[in-house]
Amino acid sequence: MYRTIAQAQKAVYESAMDMVHSKLVASTWGNVSARVEEDNLIVVTPSGIDYKNLTPQDLPVIDMQGQHIEGKYQASSEKALHIALLKNRPDVHGVMHTHSVYASAFSVIREPIPPIIEDMIQIAGGFVPVAPYYLPGSSELAEGVVQSIQNQYGVLLANHGFVGIGRTVHEAFKVCLVVEKAAQIYSIARSIGKPHILDEHDVSIMRDAYLNQYSKLDMKGES
Ligand SMILES: [Zn+2]
Repeated sequence: MYRTIAQAQKAVYESAMDMVHSKLVASTWGNVSARVEEDNLIVVTPSGIDYKNLTPQDLPVIDMQGQHIEGKYQASSEKALHIALLKNRPDVHGVMHTHSVYASAFSVIREPIPPIIEDMIQIAGGFVPVAPYYLPGSSELAEGVVQSIQNQYGVLLANHGFVGIGRTVHEAFKVCLVVEKAAQIYSIARSIGKPHILDEHDVSIMRDAYLNQYSKLDMKGES
């Protein structure tokens, strides 16, 4: 969790750069946000600005109603999505929205990604649902995402892309990465045979192991 605006700006900036370097988005697409604990504010990436021209201090700060508080640029056009997730999930402190290719392909056929492989189960919690289609940036899209994601950590946006959430922004980035990889594996597996889906019992053992052990190492320095 991020106590101050500066801490949240640093985390959002670093994860936005990770997102771009990992090719989860092209150009200025995709967006990232973090909750600022002390003031109940949100740091979010700006609208339409190339990330390589940004410094952490440039990142806009908004309140929970979406009003601009500070920062050189205007908040992302998807700010409603970020606000809705952070409002409805007190366990979540970081949100990342991407247009990665394989996850987007499943969003186009509007089919969930089942729990198929270890890292996506541990980090993203397994099953990845699909939120209904609404226009980008709309409040209906934000509402649909909150309804669809329930207690999961990732959700496909129909004909649009993916949203990953986490206890830190870095964790939200990892969710985006492992779900993209799982979508790629699932796509290949379906083209060469019949994929086997792991059962709920094994999924919950793997997820609990991650939450109770591995993730504690990751949270150091970010909490
Ligand atoms: Zn988008």
